[in-house]
Amino acid sequence: MLEKHGLYILEDAAQSMGSKYCSERIFGSSGTLGDIGTTSFFPSKNLGCYGDGGAVFTNSDALAAKVRMLANHGQTQKYHHEVIGLNSRLDTIQAAILNIKLPFLDNYISRRVEIAGRYNDSLGIVKSLKIPQIKFERRTHAFHQYTVIVEDGTRDQLREFLKENGIPSMIYYPLPLHKQKAYATKDELKISEQLCQKVISLPICPELSNEQQTYIINKIQSFYKS
Ligand SMILES: *Cc1c(COP(=O)(O)O)cnc(C)c1O
Repeated sequence: MLEKHGLYILEDAAQSMGSKYCSERIFGSSGTLGDIGTTSFFPSKNLGCYGDGGAVFTNSDALAAKVRMLANHGQTQKYHHEVIGLNSRLDTIQAAILNIKLPFLDNYISRRVEIAGRYNDSLGIVKSLKIPQIKFERRTHAFHQYTVIVEDGTRDQLREFLKENGIPSMIYYPLPLHKQKAYATKDELKISEQLCQKVISLPICPELSNEQQTYIINKIQSFYKS
């Protein structure tokens, strides 16, 4: 299919890096399933550096050479520009930090999965909330975000209540792609639009302590009891 139409698969693994995908035909790590996988090392990501950074994964030497060229002003040889490129090199200082953090990635993710499991156990019983589910065995979740759907229209009140109690939360994302000025279309994508009104992401990171999480869970449960 892809070959017939001359298409490539580019996989955005900025939130999923470190998770595994499994189907009858394919088994692999997120970022390695397409022709090119990409990730971000922005500080808040599962593997973050101390500024901006990212990486591209591919098994193709030709694509690797092309990406290296594009990231370095379109040059293969200094001051000889073959194509119009970008200045998108990874700073050495960021690479040094990532080299130290990389061996811990699986641990960071295990801790995220543990936190998500506790949220699921205690928030799954709250009627107004729909918790994330992993529907297939042998697939794993990297839980870059822990996002719930608030089904009863109380999302914004919940967010305000959390804020009053010193608990940060985020809406990822407040505007769907087709409503962004840059990509605006007249299409109606009802489910995306509804989700933007209903989702809320709760604190999750390897450093979140059990005590902090207990406090968050108790507050959310008390909000829905009253
Ligand atoms: C963070 C993120 C990006 C952007 O990463 P940059 O490092 O800012 O380029 C792209 N896609 C997803 C899914 C992300 O989470």
